Amino acid sequence: MPPKFDPTEVKYVYLRCVGGEVGATSSLAPKIGPLGLSPKKIGDDIAKGTADWKGLKITVQLKIQNRQAAISVVPSAASLIIRALKEPPQTYIPPFIQCPSCLRFGHSAKICKSKPRCRKCGNEDHIRDECQNTPKCTSCGKDHMATSKTCEEYIRQKSINDYLARNQVSFFEPQQIFPSKKPAPNQEQFLYWS
Ligand SMILES: [Zn+2]
Ligand SMILES: [Zn+2]
Ligand SMILES: [Zn+2]
Repeated sequence: MPPKFDPTEVKYVYLRCVGGEVGATSSLAPKIGPLGLSPKKIGDDIAKGTADWKGLKITVQLKIQNRQAAISVVPSAASLIIRALKEPPQTYIPPFIQCPSCLRFGHSAKICKSKPRCRKCGNEDHIRDECQNTPKCTSCGKDHMATSKTCEEYIRQKSINDYLARNQVSFFEPQQIFPSKKPAPNQEQFLYWS
């Protein structure tokens, strides 16, 4: 005679397994079979419930009641550390800014060390309000305002900024991915080297 089934009884079973993987049903069967659970289903549930711990050796707790198993991972210090290391770093994309004073990128007017430039023509001897000159962008040299959001150089600088933030890479890599059409200011130095 099997023992009388009590739907209010709670049993805990602990299993060592690898996160995100369906373990061998044969090793599950002796532990949970007698409790009226399907090793196949529980195996699948464990794999799903531990997807966050993929590839890590973890201990899983099965809280079994009324032929249902609630799966939770019993965190160990080692698995918590390993998981933290595996997680991609939180990406913080710093706001992309253009200095409203000198019109260069990456700093605010507060910390600007350059002379203010006219955002219409780019000259330093006046500011925009009374400017009668034809527009000349300080970033790309074309005939639009330096604050234009459609400026090629503005878009390039913004792409670099976003790429750096997202990929946490050095400054040189995005310079190659988003090459400048302007000659590099230090090109002469390279001539000496070659
Ligand atoms: Zn500035
Ligand atoms: Zn001007
Ligand atoms: Zn431009």
